[in-house]
Amino acid sequence: MRPDPALIDELRAAVGGDAVLVSPEACAPYECDALTAHRRTPDVVVLPGTAEQVMEVLRACRRHSTPVVARGAGTGLSGGALPVEGGVLLVLARLNRVLEVDPLRRLARVEPGVTNLEISQVAAPHALYYAPDPSSQVACTIGGNVAENSGGVHCLKHGLTVHNLLAVRVATIEGEWLTLGSPAGEAPGLPLLALVTGSEGMLGVVTEVTVRLKPIPERVELLMAAFDDVRRCADAVGRVIAAGIVPAGLEMMDAPALRAAEAFAHCGYPQDAAALLLCELDGLTHDVERELASVQDVLRQCGVTSLRLARDATERQRMWSGRKSAFPAVGRLAPDYFCMDGTIPRRSLAQVLEGIAELSGKFGLSVANVFHAGDGNLHPLILFDAGRAGESESAEHLGAEILELCIAAGGTVTGEHGVGVEKLGPMCSQFGAGELEAFHAVKRVFDPDSLLNPGKAVPTLARCADYGAMRVHGGKLPFPHLPRF
Ligand SMILES: Cc1cc2nc3c(=O)[nH]c(=O)nc-3n(C[C@H](O)[C@H](O)[C@H](O)COP(=O)(O)OP(=O)(O)OC[C@H]3O[C@@H](n4cnc5c(N)ncnc54)[C@H](O)[C@@H]3O)c2cc1C
Repeated sequence: MRPDPALIDELRAAVGGDAVLVSPEACAPYECDALTAHRRTPDVVVLPGTAEQVMEVLRACRRHSTPVVARGAGTGLSGGALPVEGGVLLVLARLNRVLEVDPLRRLARVEPGVTNLEISQVAAPHALYYAPDPSSQVACTIGGNVAENSGGVHCLKHGLTVHNLLAVRVATIEGEWLTLGSPAGEAPGLPLLALVTGSEGMLGVVTEVTVRLKPIPERVELLMAAFDDVRRCADAVGRVIAAGIVPAGLEMMDAPALRAAEAFAHCGYPQDAAALLLCELDGLTHDVERELASVQDVLRQCGVTSLRLARDATERQRMWSGRKSAFPAVGRLAPDYFCMDGTIPRRSLAQVLEGIAELSGKFGLSVANVFHAGDGNLHPLILFDAGRAGESESAEHLGAEILELCIAAGGTVTGEHGVGVEKLGPMCSQFGAGELEAFHAVKRVFDPDSLLNPGKAVPTLARCADYGAMRVHGGKLPFPHLPRF
């Protein structure tokens, strides 16, 4: 069902004819995000250039009862920006102006289409930076980061997106402007800034973001620690933090991931290691030196087989380059891969990694692990060939069982990639009817007619009933190709 032609006319009047795409060829590049297994060519793509135009688009969609899906750069990994049938895809990429960098108040005010990396680049002349650093930071937008509450390698010490936001301006589908939070830091009233952060485009469209900037640390050191045993490496993660040290980043890769990263980025990773830790420390020189000595002691006690300290910033960047390009590097090992995202308590790392290895054997599909170990945020990458009969389904089934393992360990079905369409089923395992009803009730307050990104992020109870029944009867797990709201 295509949107009403009268709506198309109103959209053209609001943003200009060139900024409304309707032909299938022009709309095709927007058919999916980075979860490419789910695709749908949008019926209409709108590219507003100002916040006021965003509001006009929302008002027009509301008048015509037409669903709207916001999209930043489309790097999401859970299908959050997947177009919906008969809907408008609202692309925020042209809202890409840096509005203000204030070194005195240590903040930057930007439009939602500004990339994550650009914020640090514009802050750098003031010796400041924006701490959350998803590996996709060169491309992903700050609006998408807010909607997904994105993390990155430095979020262990410096916090997720939600901890680094001061304020956002939101256009609601009801046609109202909301300013949530305050550049001053604490804002009175209910903490709606935190509510909107991570809401996956379901409560409103973010048109302006004010972020906290931090001083570039005086000293940074990066240690690369290799282990000949995955369990010892995983145990070292908890032991470092138990020693009272919170590294800026503490990342782990298993053998398949580190070998793929080395072949891709030539970053100096030892090819014979069973697992690798990258541990970055930052802060004042005196503190970093003390922590460096303690971390090395802990790693030795944990049975590290080789330890290397990056000599300088160039070597540090080289060592990080492997980790930061690990997803595409692993992607070269098979025609297709799924990147899973689940979080577990750190103390269960070794046990859950062993469980993943068992599941990998059971399904006959390889899994590479590269993840934010310090946060307990796993990213198992499941390798498969969609061209082989049944392999996509096996990969989805394996992914679902990995998430069940995370829940059983006391963890969650997503760490930072959101629920989107990918994890609607596993959300039914994570939450009971009471919590899901509460999520729907919050959504209704902002969006009574369910026009904003409908069918994403929160499953209906009916869907969960199907999911439970299918699992009880041992059937195929219902990862959706399209939401069934
Ligand atoms: C190689 C690779 C590495 C990655 N590494 C990380 C990582 O380390 N950490 C991490 O957290 N993520 C990572 N991601 C996932 C992804 O980059 C993040 O989720 C990112 O925040 C998405 O931003 P985007 O601009 O691409 O958003 P999109 O994919 O376009 O959209 C994501 C969601 O946000 C909503 N949305 C977008 N803009 C707005 C807005 N202005 N207002 C309201 N809703 C909006 C969309 O509707 C959708 O639900 C990675 C992805 C890739 C491909």
